[in-house]
Amino acid sequence: MASSVKKKNGTGNGQPKLKFNTGWEYAPAPESSSHIKINSRYDLFIGGKFVKPSSGKYFDTINPATEAKLSEVAESNTADVDKAVKAARQAYDKYWKKMPARERGKYIFRISRMIQERARELAIIETMNGGKAIRESRDIDVPLAANHFFYYAGWADKLQFALPNKTPKPLGVAAQIIPWNFPLLMAAWKIAPALAAGNTVVLKPAETTPLTALKLAEIIQESGLPEGVVNIITGFGNTGADLVYHNDVDKIAFTGSTEVGKIIQKAVAGTRKKLTLELGGKAANIIFDDAPLDQAVEGIVNGIFFNQGHVCCAGSRLFVQESVYNKVLRKLKDRIETLIVGDPLDKNTDVGAINSKAQLEIINRYIALGKEEGAEIYQSGCSVPKKGFFCRPTLFTNVSQSHRIAQEEIFGPVLTIQTFRTDEEVIEKANNSPYGLSAGVWTDKGSKIFNLTTKLKAGVIWANTYNKFDPTSPFGGYKESGFGREGGLHGLTSYLAS
Ligand code: ADP
Repeated sequence: MASSVKKKNGTGNGQPKLKFNTGWEYAPAPESSSHIKINSRYDLFIGGKFVKPSSGKYFDTINPATEAKLSEVAESNTADVDKAVKAARQAYDKYWKKMPARERGKYIFRISRMIQERARELAIIETMNGGKAIRESRDIDVPLAANHFFYYAGWADKLQFALPNKTPKPLGVAAQIIPWNFPLLMAAWKIAPALAAGNTVVLKPAETTPLTALKLAEIIQESGLPEGVVNIITGFGNTGADLVYHNDVDKIAFTGSTEVGKIIQKAVAGTRKKLTLELGGKAANIIFDDAPLDQAVEGIVNGIFFNQGHVCCAGSRLFVQESVYNKVLRKLKDRIETLIVGDPLDKNTDVGAINSKAQLEIINRYIALGKEEGAEIYQSGCSVPKKGFFCRPTLFTNVSQSHRIAQEEIFGPVLTIQTFRTDEEVIEKANNSPYGLSAGVWTDKGSKIFNLTTKLKAGVIWANTYNKFDPTSPFGGYKESGFGREGGLHGLTSYLAS
């Protein structure tokens, strides 16, 4: 693609900064949003109806790529949370636990088909509200969300096979709290297995990305699911806390920061509530010298840049075997220079908007910290829109294990790069993290893959690929990345008592 490469600003580590002069650019190819209907205001979805919050309060939800207000959504207070939990309890006792399992399954199938029918609309709203590139929401988030409902719908009347020789029973009312990085997909991960296992639900989306969850509420209402089986309430951290502390909740499923996960774990200790936590990560992506380097570089880019690094399993720590370090670094720099950062609705965009101003500030603080710690920075030379929250793909070299940028979750398009010589060395370095959610291994040798996958302390390990998801595969972490699994049979059993 590049017709010429010219040198620009040395980076100080002997590596010239590259600027691709392609002589041409992609024409804009924005996905149209003119047909998308977003209400000016959304109420709470409780007991099958949209009801006004007793707080009387609403808060704005914006498009992080333009900073324009999209809508305002209700802010739940303690009374609203109580109302939602009561609706879920009533639905559980009145309909859901008595309904034949195959009937439950039909509703879940119907929801998945309706998500498919409205896939384009959901993808556009996901991108407008969350900032991720339309390519991601269209090709990954929304199809996977539909697939999760399909997959778990099939389990609803087969629970006895999920737990052989046991009598699986639902837990009751599940409180589910989700983050902003995969708003619809996380809602699907949570709601689908809970319903299939016979539980009712109160779901709280993140404060910055409530819109696709509210669209899902519309779908659920249209599907004819008995009222109160799924309730969706919007609000901030205190709404989540009210849910966690509510006495009539049987199960809490939380995905979010390790910090909040710890608070929730303490709050739940000593109660009957079951808990699963999917928390932060600092995944190691490991390239051996026998790996197919071009594919590996593409996998690295996919693992940290395509989703603005807004993925808890983002491959944010790269370890490269010393003998191919220079080659990989050169390829990586070349590749990030070709990434298009900008309008997330544009089909050519690789790296969309950072989800919020607050998150951009966190990322920028880490970038400044990396420089203070003495690491070498390399950022792609692309321009970014003036309005909205954007961050250029960023690499850090000369990084040591003790650097905070190599230890702490940044949740942005920032990659630290380190080298290693032997398998033992890289296993030790990769495991030297408080987190243990995921990892990636790139090598031509199956034996090396087996060696590493048994020794790396991570819940999910991809080999010669990265960030691949499937509803049948369990996902979850070790150490401070949480416990419990979502997806697959394991995800189902998290919602069953036996
Ligand atoms: P992030 O840092 O990724 O925004 P958080 O852990 O702060 O992650 O948020 C994830 C979800 O948890 C959001 O829906 C948020 O509103 C909710 N939340 C925040 N604080 C609490 C809390 N103390 N108890 C329960 N839920 C909370």
